[in-house]
Amino acid sequence: MTNLDPRAPLVLDTRELGRRPGSQREVDLSVPAPPELGIEVLSVPEGSPVELRLRLEAVMEGVLVTGTATAGLEGECARCLESLSEPIEVDVQELFVYDDSDIEDDEEEGVFRLDGDLLDLEPLLRDGIVLSLPFQPLCRDDCPGLCIECGARLADDPDHQHEEPIDPRWAGLTALREQSDGPSDRSATGEAGPTGSEPKRSE
Ligand SMILES: [Zn+2]
Ligand SMILES: [Zn+2]
Repeated sequence: MTNLDPRAPLVLDTRELGRRPGSQREVDLSVPAPPELGIEVLSVPEGSPVELRLRLEAVMEGVLVTGTATAGLEGECARCLESLSEPIEVDVQELFVYDDSDIEDDEEEGVFRLDGDLLDLEPLLRDGIVLSLPFQPLCRDDCPGLCIECGARLADDPDHQHEEPIDPRWAGLTALREQSDGPSDRSATGEAGPTGSEPKRSE
């Protein structure tokens, strides 16, 4: 592990917490967002403020950090490409083990280690924020997207339509309606026919 810079904005000094298990400390701080905090279509702009309300708790193996992170997201709607700007608040939780702990490093489990009394808040932010982002951000849940004919944003113009391709379909519907009217008239006259002709045959 590379040594952490105690003056770096995302590095937190836990010295005041001490190492006695059960010892707790509340920390509220505002940090600048690290680069690429998010996904391609939705992210927290680098340098914008992330508000952290954290509770540090000394446990046997290290320091358990729990709390919330609040930030502003920027991105674009996956359906209509309108730019989005919305707040996000996520729960964060991570165990940072003491650097002299017996717990072994495991890439898959993602064990975070303290560097002396210092801990790096960046993985905490990444796990909390990136994993909670939607794969397809939308400007609103029922965003109608773009017109497939001309690319217009349908939310701005709900009655938007193109005359040409619709006309033939209406013509087809009108023809169907005329056909279904026809046979019902004919079956009514057909029933009346046989009953009227019976007396004639007995004569
Ligand atoms: Zn949209
Ligand atoms: Zn259109």
